[in-house]
Amino acid sequence: MGVGSSFIWQGIVTARIEAMQGYRLSAKGVNLPLNCPMCGYEVEDLLHVFFNCPFALACWHVVDAGFDLSMEMSAPLWLLTKIETGPSEEILKIARVLWGVWFFCNKKIWENQIVTAEIAMAWSTKSIEDWKEAVGKPANQGVITSQRSSQVPVKWSKPELGAMKLHVDAVVTLGAPAFFIGLVLRDHTGALVGGYTISKSMVNKVFEAESLAVLEGLTWLASMNHDKVIIEFDSLFTVPALQTSSVNLLEVGFILDACRNILESRSGYKISFVKRQANRVAHLVAKLPCSLNCQNVLTSPSDLLLEALLLDIS
Ligand SMILES: [Zn+2]
Repeated sequence: MGVGSSFIWQGIVTARIEAMQGYRLSAKGVNLPLNCPMCGYEVEDLLHVFFNCPFALACWHVVDAGFDLSMEMSAPLWLLTKIETGPSEEILKIARVLWGVWFFCNKKIWENQIVTAEIAMAWSTKSIEDWKEAVGKPANQGVITSQRSSQVPVKWSKPELGAMKLHVDAVVTLGAPAFFIGLVLRDHTGALVGGYTISKSMVNKVFEAESLAVLEGLTWLASMNHDKVIIEFDSLFTVPALQTSSVNLLEVGFILDACRNILESRSGYKISFVKRQANRVAHLVAKLPCSLNCQNVLTSPSDLLLEALLLDIS
């Protein structure tokens, strides 16, 4: 329960402070608006922000954490019971919602940035994963399981006749001077058409590296003449962000806009999420040796890579 509950309480305590600051300053005669930043509801209190607000309800729905509107009046009791008795997977789902709702409420207040519930939840999932990686704990699959991800294929699948598939991956090691991008293009038979590894200077966030990986892949694709390409990636942040038309997404907004421009200019390009197991070849390519700012073009795949390519089409 330790991992989940620390996030929950971090979110609750910070949100309580934010909300109470408004009331306290208001009581001292400082005229701060007390409307909900997300929907404009008249009085912003914790029950509204985390449970009654349409944005929060959409987040609960995306994560499928077992909370629905009919329970809104008993929400605090439901929350406390879950924290006390719930399995760690459920507590992590709750943490995703509270953390994401709180973070994006503040984004709206201070930077007037609006995102969809899907993006907010992808972001909070990624933040929790990054945090767990930073403290050296193994990734918990429960934290990334959403209602939709259970329907996502776990195995590589061939694109239709005449179409191509581009798999993208980014390998980011915190504290390293560079991160690595792996790109693998295959045709409808599963045969390798091309691919490369490229390393770029380290960025601050994993989701920034992932966004740059997609941009690298799309830029490479745009230099060729393939009409129909499915771009697949196991990034829970970048893929949902590019599947919506929302703009102004945090500090990577300009990278996503560049990706979106390419996607919109090529009607045959589609991006979709795959589970990590289905993206194994791109992951192996991203781990190939590569000097900073250099490309390592995939000319003769290693035995390990050949085995992974064959396994995908078997
Ligand atoms: Zn609201």
